[in-house]
Amino acid sequence: MSDDVRNLIIIGSGPSGYTAAVYAARANLEPLVFEGSVTAGGALMNTTDVENFPGFPDGIMGPELMDKLRAQAERFGAELIADDVTAVQLEGDIKTVSLADGTTYRARAVVLAMGSGYRKLEIEGEDRLSGHGVSWCATCDGFFFREQNIVVVGGGDSAVEEATFLTRFASKVTLVHRRDELRASKIMQDRAFANEKIEFAWNSEVAELHGDDRLEGITLRDTVTGETRRIDATGLFIAIGHDPRSELLKGQVQLDDEGYVLVQPGSTATNLPGVFAAGDLVDHTYRQAVTAAGTGCAASLDAERFLADIE
Ligand code: FAD
Repeated sequence: MSDDVRNLIIIGSGPSGYTAAVYAARANLEPLVFEGSVTAGGALMNTTDVENFPGFPDGIMGPELMDKLRAQAERFGAELIADDVTAVQLEGDIKTVSLADGTTYRARAVVLAMGSGYRKLEIEGEDRLSGHGVSWCATCDGFFFREQNIVVVGGGDSAVEEATFLTRFASKVTLVHRRDELRASKIMQDRAFANEKIEFAWNSEVAELHGDDRLEGITLRDTVTGETRRIDATGLFIAIGHDPRSELLKGQVQLDDEGYVLVQPGSTATNLPGVFAAGDLVDHTYRQAVTAAGTGCAASLDAERFLADIE
Protein backbone atom coordinates (compact mmCIF):
# COMPACT_ATOMS: atom_id res chain seq x y z
CA MET A 1 0.00 0.00 0.00
CA SER A 2 1.29 3.44 -0.87
CA ASP A 3 1.54 5.56 2.33
CA ASP A 4 0.53 8.79 0.61
CA VAL A 5 -3.05 9.88 0.65
CA ARG A 6 -3.44 11.68 -2.65
CA ASN A 7 -5.83 14.46 -3.43
CA LEU A 8 -7.31 12.88 -6.51
CA ILE A 9 -7.26 9.62 -8.42
CA ILE A 10 -8.76 9.52 -11.92
CA ILE A 11 -9.74 6.15 -13.37
CA GLY A 12 -9.87 6.20 -17.18
CA SER A 13 -7.91 7.71 -20.03
CA GLY A 14 -10.41 8.78 -22.67
CA PRO A 15 -11.26 12.43 -23.36
CA SER A 16 -13.02 12.66 -19.99
CA GLY A 17 -10.19 11.20 -17.89
CA TYR A 18 -7.38 13.16 -19.56
CA THR A 19 -9.37 16.42 -19.48
CA ALA A 20 -10.08 15.90 -15.78
CA ALA A 21 -6.32 15.33 -15.37
CA VAL A 22 -5.40 18.57 -17.21
CA TYR A 23 -7.70 20.62 -14.97
CA ALA A 24 -6.68 18.87 -11.75
CA ALA A 25 -2.97 19.12 -12.55
CA ARG A 26 -3.29 22.84 -13.34
CA ALA A 27 -5.05 23.27 -9.98
CA ASN A 28 -1.97 21.70 -8.28
CA LEU A 29 -3.91 18.63 -7.16
CA GLU A 30 -1.16 16.30 -8.52
CA PRO A 31 -3.69 13.78 -9.85
CA LEU A 32 -2.84 10.14 -10.38
CA VAL A 33 -4.44 8.73 -13.53
CA PHE A 34 -5.00 5.03 -14.21
CA GLU A 35 -5.10 4.69 -17.97
CA GLY A 36 -5.85 0.99 -18.40
CA SER A 37 -3.36 -1.55 -19.76
CA VAL A 38 -4.76 -2.38 -23.18
CA THR A 39 -6.99 0.49 -24.24
CA ALA A 40 -5.13 3.52 -22.84
CA GLY A 41 -6.46 6.56 -24.68
CA GLY A 42 -10.02 5.28 -24.82
CA ALA A 43 -12.46 4.77 -27.67
CA LEU A 44 -10.84 7.21 -30.11
CA MET A 45 -7.75 5.00 -30.30
CA ASN A 46 -9.90 2.76 -32.54
CA THR A 47 -10.80 5.33 -35.12
CA THR A 48 -9.24 7.34 -37.90
CA ASP A 49 -10.41 10.88 -38.71
CA VAL A 50 -12.11 12.95 -36.03
CA GLU A 51 -13.61 15.99 -37.71
CA ASN A 52 -15.89 17.31 -34.97
CA PHE A 53 -13.53 17.96 -32.06
CA PRO A 54 -13.32 21.76 -31.77
CA GLY A 55 -10.00 23.37 -32.60
CA PHE A 56 -8.94 21.10 -35.46
CA PRO A 57 -10.32 22.67 -38.66
CA ASP A 58 -8.66 20.00 -40.84
CA GLY A 59 -9.66 17.14 -38.52
CA ILE A 60 -7.26 14.99 -36.56
CA MET A 61 -6.66 11.25 -36.30
CA GLY A 62 -8.21 9.76 -33.13
CA PRO A 63 -4.93 8.35 -31.71
CA GLU A 64 -3.13 11.65 -32.39
CA LEU A 65 -5.83 13.60 -30.55
CA MET A 66 -5.51 11.28 -27.57
CA ASP A 67 -1.68 11.52 -27.60
CA LYS A 68 -2.02 15.30 -27.46
CA LEU A 69 -4.51 15.17 -24.60
CA ARG A 70 -2.22 12.78 -22.73
CA ALA A 71 0.81 15.03 -23.29
CA GLN A 72 -1.20 18.03 -22.10
CA ALA A 73 -2.07 16.24 -18.83
CA GLU A 74 1.57 15.19 -18.33
CA ARG A 75 2.87 18.65 -19.05
CA PHE A 76 1.11 20.01 -15.98
CA GLY A 77 2.30 17.19 -13.74
CA ALA A 78 -0.41 14.50 -13.84
CA GLU A 79 1.08 11.12 -12.97
CA LEU A 80 -0.05 8.44 -15.42
CA ILE A 81 -0.04 4.70 -14.81
CA ALA A 82 -0.89 2.40 -17.74
CA ASP A 83 -2.57 -0.27 -15.66
CA ASP A 84 -6.10 -1.48 -14.93
CA VAL A 85 -7.84 -0.74 -11.67
CA THR A 86 -9.31 -4.05 -10.56
CA ALA A 87 -10.99 -3.04 -7.26
CA VAL A 88 -12.16 0.14 -5.56
CA GLN A 89 -13.38 1.06 -2.09
CA LEU A 90 -15.11 4.40 -2.45
CA GLU A 91 -16.96 4.91 0.82
CA GLY A 92 -15.61 7.00 3.70
CA ASP A 93 -13.10 9.86 3.74
CA ILE A 94 -10.20 7.90 2.25
CA LYS A 95 -10.92 5.93 -0.92
CA THR A 96 -8.72 3.07 -2.10
CA VAL A 97 -8.00 1.88 -5.61
CA SER A 98 -6.23 -1.46 -6.22
CA LEU A 99 -4.43 -3.12 -9.12
CA ALA A 100 -4.29 -6.82 -9.98
CA ASP A 101 -0.85 -7.20 -8.33
CA GLY A 102 -2.35 -6.02 -5.03
CA THR A 103 -0.84 -2.52 -5.05
CA THR A 104 -3.26 -0.10 -3.44
CA TYR A 105 -3.43 3.69 -3.78
CA ARG A 106 -5.38 6.08 -1.57
CA ALA A 107 -7.05 9.42 -2.23
CA ARG A 108 -9.56 11.84 -0.78
CA ALA A 109 -11.42 12.18 -4.08
CA VAL A 110 -11.91 9.98 -7.14
CA VAL A 111 -13.10 10.75 -10.68
CA LEU A 112 -14.61 7.78 -12.49
CA ALA A 113 -14.06 8.06 -16.26
CA MET A 114 -13.99 4.49 -17.54
CA GLY A 115 -16.25 5.06 -20.54
CA SER A 116 -18.50 2.49 -22.12
CA GLY A 117 -17.87 -0.22 -24.66
CA TYR A 118 -19.76 -0.41 -27.93
CA ARG A 119 -21.15 -3.92 -28.43
CA LYS A 120 -19.53 -5.68 -31.34
CA LEU A 121 -20.83 -8.21 -33.83
CA GLU A 122 -17.75 -10.37 -33.08
CA ILE A 123 -17.09 -11.22 -36.71
CA GLU A 124 -13.84 -11.38 -38.66
CA GLY A 125 -12.69 -8.05 -40.06
CA GLU A 126 -14.76 -5.90 -37.69
CA ASP A 127 -11.75 -4.49 -35.82
CA ARG A 128 -9.52 -4.26 -38.90
CA LEU A 129 -12.15 -2.23 -40.80
CA SER A 130 -13.08 0.00 -37.86
CA GLY A 131 -12.56 3.55 -39.11
CA HIS A 132 -12.37 2.19 -42.68
CA GLY A 133 -16.08 1.72 -43.31
CA VAL A 134 -17.13 0.12 -40.02
CA SER A 135 -18.41 2.54 -37.39
CA TRP A 136 -20.36 2.67 -34.15
CA CYS A 137 -21.34 6.32 -34.31
CA ALA A 138 -23.49 7.92 -37.03
CA THR A 139 -23.12 11.42 -35.55
CA CYS A 140 -19.33 11.03 -35.73
CA ASP A 141 -18.93 9.36 -39.10
CA GLY A 142 -22.12 9.79 -41.18
CA PHE A 143 -20.61 12.74 -43.03
CA PHE A 144 -17.90 10.48 -44.52
CA PHE A 145 -20.51 8.38 -46.37
CA ARG A 146 -22.11 10.84 -48.76
CA GLU A 147 -23.88 9.14 -51.71
CA GLN A 148 -22.87 5.67 -50.53
CA ASN A 149 -24.71 2.48 -49.61
CA ILE A 150 -24.82 2.02 -45.87
CA VAL A 151 -25.92 -0.90 -43.71
CA VAL A 152 -27.12 -0.33 -40.15
CA VAL A 153 -27.40 -3.32 -37.79
CA GLY A 154 -29.88 -3.36 -34.91
CA GLY A 155 -33.57 -3.10 -34.17
CA GLY A 156 -33.87 -0.73 -31.23
CA ASP A 157 -34.36 3.02 -31.01
CA SER A 158 -30.72 3.88 -31.62
CA ALA A 159 -30.45 1.70 -34.74
CA VAL A 160 -33.60 3.19 -36.25
CA GLU A 161 -32.55 6.72 -35.29
CA GLU A 162 -29.09 6.19 -36.81
CA ALA A 163 -30.59 4.73 -40.01
CA THR A 164 -32.92 7.71 -40.36
CA PHE A 165 -30.10 10.19 -39.65
CA LEU A 166 -27.81 8.50 -42.18
CA THR A 167 -30.32 9.00 -45.01
CA ARG A 168 -29.16 12.65 -44.96
CA PHE A 169 -25.89 11.46 -46.52
CA ALA A 170 -26.37 8.00 -47.98
CA SER A 171 -27.90 7.05 -51.30
CA LYS A 172 -29.42 4.01 -49.58
CA VAL A 173 -29.55 2.65 -46.04
CA THR A 174 -30.30 -1.02 -45.37
CA LEU A 175 -31.44 -1.74 -41.83
CA VAL A 176 -30.49 -5.30 -40.91
CA HIS A 177 -32.40 -6.92 -38.08
CA ARG A 178 -32.37 -10.49 -36.77
CA ARG A 179 -36.13 -10.61 -36.30
CA ASP A 180 -39.14 -9.71 -38.43
CA GLU A 181 -40.13 -6.68 -36.36
CA LEU A 182 -38.31 -3.80 -34.71
CA ARG A 183 -38.02 -3.09 -30.98
CA ALA A 184 -37.85 0.66 -31.58
CA SER A 185 -40.70 2.93 -30.47
CA LYS A 186 -43.66 3.17 -32.85
CA ILE A 187 -43.00 6.78 -33.80
CA MET A 188 -39.40 6.00 -34.79
CA GLN A 189 -40.55 2.97 -36.77
CA ASP A 190 -43.21 4.97 -38.61
CA ARG A 191 -40.63 7.59 -39.53
CA ALA A 192 -38.26 4.92 -40.86
CA PHE A 193 -40.98 3.05 -42.79
CA ALA A 194 -41.96 6.31 -44.48
CA ASN A 195 -38.37 7.07 -45.51
CA GLU A 196 -37.83 6.06 -49.14
CA LYS A 197 -34.08 5.70 -48.68
CA ILE A 198 -34.41 2.97 -46.02
CA GLU A 199 -34.73 -0.70 -46.96
CA PHE A 200 -35.25 -3.43 -44.39
CA ALA A 201 -33.45 -6.76 -44.33
CA TRP A 202 -35.65 -8.75 -41.93
CA ASN A 203 -34.57 -11.99 -40.26
CA SER A 204 -31.01 -11.20 -41.25
CA GLU A 205 -27.59 -10.98 -39.66
CA VAL A 206 -24.18 -9.90 -40.91
CA ALA A 207 -22.21 -13.05 -41.77
CA GLU A 208 -19.11 -11.64 -43.48
CA LEU A 209 -17.37 -8.37 -44.24
CA HIS A 210 -15.55 -7.92 -47.55
CA GLY A 211 -12.63 -5.61 -48.26
CA ASP A 212 -8.97 -5.47 -47.23
CA ASP A 213 -8.29 -1.79 -46.50
CA ARG A 214 -11.86 -0.51 -46.76
CA LEU A 215 -15.28 -2.09 -46.52
CA GLU A 216 -16.56 -3.07 -49.97
CA GLY A 217 -19.47 -5.41 -49.31
CA ILE A 218 -21.35 -7.41 -46.72
CA THR A 219 -22.73 -10.94 -46.76
CA LEU A 220 -26.04 -11.28 -44.94
CA ARG A 221 -27.37 -14.56 -43.61
CA ASP A 222 -31.10 -15.28 -43.27
CA THR A 223 -31.69 -16.24 -39.62
CA VAL A 224 -34.60 -18.53 -40.62
CA THR A 225 -33.39 -20.30 -43.78
CA GLY A 226 -29.62 -19.89 -43.39
CA GLU A 227 -29.35 -18.61 -46.97
CA THR A 228 -26.69 -15.98 -47.66
CA ARG A 229 -26.55 -13.04 -50.06
CA ARG A 230 -23.94 -10.39 -50.72
CA ILE A 231 -24.82 -6.71 -50.87
CA ASP A 232 -22.64 -3.78 -51.92
CA ALA A 233 -22.03 -1.42 -49.04
CA THR A 234 -19.14 0.85 -48.11
CA GLY A 235 -20.45 1.75 -44.67
CA LEU A 236 -21.56 -0.45 -41.77
CA PHE A 237 -22.94 1.14 -38.61
CA ILE A 238 -23.28 -1.25 -35.69
CA ALA A 239 -26.04 -0.08 -33.34
CA ILE A 240 -26.64 -3.00 -31.00
CA GLY A 241 -25.97 -1.21 -27.72
CA HIS A 242 -23.24 -0.18 -25.29
CA ASP A 243 -22.05 -1.46 -21.95
CA PRO A 244 -20.85 1.10 -19.41
CA ARG A 245 -17.65 -0.09 -17.70
CA SER A 246 -19.14 -0.01 -14.21
CA GLU A 247 -18.50 -3.60 -13.03
CA LEU A 248 -16.02 -2.34 -10.42
CA LEU A 249 -18.58 -0.01 -8.93
CA LYS A 250 -21.44 -2.41 -8.24
CA GLY A 251 -22.63 -2.30 -4.65
CA GLN A 252 -20.89 1.03 -4.00
CA VAL A 253 -21.90 3.77 -6.41
CA GLN A 254 -25.53 4.10 -7.49
CA LEU A 255 -26.05 2.87 -11.04
CA ASP A 256 -29.15 3.02 -13.21
CA ASP A 257 -30.88 -0.06 -14.63
CA GLU A 258 -28.45 -0.22 -17.55
CA GLY A 259 -25.35 0.13 -15.38
CA TYR A 260 -24.59 3.82 -16.05
CA VAL A 261 -23.37 5.80 -13.04
CA LEU A 262 -26.04 8.10 -11.66
CA VAL A 263 -24.94 11.68 -11.01
CA GLN A 264 -26.85 14.49 -9.38
CA PRO A 265 -28.57 16.81 -11.88
CA GLY A 266 -26.31 19.65 -12.98
CA SER A 267 -23.26 18.08 -11.34
CA THR A 268 -20.84 15.17 -11.66
CA ALA A 269 -21.33 14.13 -8.00
CA THR A 270 -22.33 10.51 -7.41
CA ASN A 271 -24.19 9.35 -4.30
CA LEU A 272 -20.81 9.03 -2.48
CA PRO A 273 -19.11 12.19 -1.17
CA GLY A 274 -15.81 12.77 -2.97
CA VAL A 275 -16.66 10.47 -5.88
CA PHE A 276 -17.41 12.08 -9.24
CA ALA A 277 -18.17 10.56 -12.65
CA ALA A 278 -17.83 11.80 -16.22
CA GLY A 279 -17.94 10.87 -19.88
CA ASP A 280 -19.68 7.91 -21.49
CA LEU A 281 -19.82 6.13 -18.13
CA VAL A 282 -22.72 8.43 -17.22
CA ASP A 283 -23.97 9.41 -20.65
CA HIS A 284 -26.82 7.62 -22.45
CA THR A 285 -27.42 10.44 -24.83
CA TYR A 286 -24.55 12.39 -26.36
CA ARG A 287 -21.49 10.09 -26.35
CA GLN A 288 -19.12 12.47 -28.06
CA ALA A 289 -15.47 13.20 -27.38
CA VAL A 290 -16.23 16.84 -26.71
CA THR A 291 -19.08 16.10 -24.29
CA ALA A 292 -16.85 13.57 -22.48
CA ALA A 293 -14.10 16.19 -22.26
CA GLY A 294 -16.67 18.70 -20.99
CA THR A 295 -17.93 16.51 -18.17
CA GLY A 296 -14.32 15.50 -17.39
CA CYS A 297 -13.57 19.18 -16.84
CA ALA A 298 -16.69 19.52 -14.66
CA ALA A 299 -15.73 16.47 -12.57
CA SER A 300 -12.31 17.92 -11.91
CA LEU A 301 -13.77 21.27 -10.87
CA ASP A 302 -16.32 19.49 -8.64
CA ALA A 303 -13.50 17.45 -7.04
CA GLU A 304 -11.42 20.59 -6.54
CA ARG A 305 -14.30 22.31 -4.69
CA PHE A 306 -14.98 19.19 -2.63
CA LEU A 307 -11.30 19.05 -1.55
CA ALA A 308 -11.26 22.76 -0.71
CA ASP A 309 -14.38 22.31 1.47
CA ILE A 310 -12.92 19.44 3.51
CA GLU A 311 -9.58 21.18 4.14
P1 FAD B 1 -13.45 6.26 -23.33
O1 FAD B 1 -12.93 7.02 -24.49
O2 FAD B 1 -14.18 5.01 -23.56
O3 FAD B 1 -12.17 5.95 -22.41
C1 FAD B 1 -12.25 5.23 -21.24
C2 FAD B 1 -10.91 4.53 -21.06
O4 FAD B 1 -10.65 4.37 -19.67
C3 FAD B 1 -10.85 3.08 -21.56
O5 FAD B 1 -10.69 2.95 -22.90
C4 FAD B 1 -9.65 2.56 -20.79
O6 FAD B 1 -8.46 2.95 -21.41
C5 FAD B 1 -9.80 3.28 -19.46
N1 FAD B 1 -10.34 2.38 -18.44
C6 FAD B 1 -11.56 1.75 -18.43
N2 FAD B 1 -11.68 0.98 -17.35
C7 FAD B 1 -10.53 1.11 -16.65
C8 FAD B 1 -10.02 0.55 -15.44
N3 FAD B 1 -10.74 -0.32 -14.72
N4 FAD B 1 -8.77 0.88 -15.04
C9 FAD B 1 -8.02 1.77 -15.75
N5 FAD B 1 -8.45 2.34 -16.91
C10 FAD B 1 -9.67 2.00 -17.35
N6 FAD B 1 -16.72 10.96 -30.75
C11 FAD B 1 -16.55 12.15 -31.38
O7 FAD B 1 -16.81 13.21 -30.78
N7 FAD B 1 -16.09 12.22 -32.67
C12 FAD B 1 -15.75 11.11 -33.38
O8 FAD B 1 -15.35 11.20 -34.55
C13 FAD B 1 -15.89 9.84 -32.73
N8 FAD B 1 -15.57 8.71 -33.39
C14 FAD B 1 -15.66 7.51 -32.73
C15 FAD B 1 -15.25 6.36 -33.38
C16 FAD B 1 -15.31 5.15 -32.75
C17 FAD B 1 -14.85 3.89 -33.48
C18 FAD B 1 -15.80 5.06 -31.42
C19 FAD B 1 -15.85 3.72 -30.70
C20 FAD B 1 -16.22 6.19 -30.77
C21 FAD B 1 -16.17 7.44 -31.40
N9 FAD B 1 -16.57 8.61 -30.78
C22 FAD B 1 -16.39 9.81 -31.40
C23 FAD B 1 -17.14 8.60 -29.42
C24 FAD B 1 -16.05 8.98 -28.40
O9 FAD B 1 -14.89 8.21 -28.68
C25 FAD B 1 -16.52 8.73 -26.99
O10 FAD B 1 -17.72 9.45 -26.74
C26 FAD B 1 -15.46 9.17 -25.98
O11 FAD B 1 -14.22 8.53 -26.23
C27 FAD B 1 -15.89 8.87 -24.55
O12 FAD B 1 -14.86 9.27 -23.71
P2 FAD B 1 -14.69 8.69 -22.25
O13 FAD B 1 -13.52 9.42 -21.67
O14 FAD B 1 -15.96 8.76 -21.51
O15 FAD B 1 -14.38 7.13 -22.39
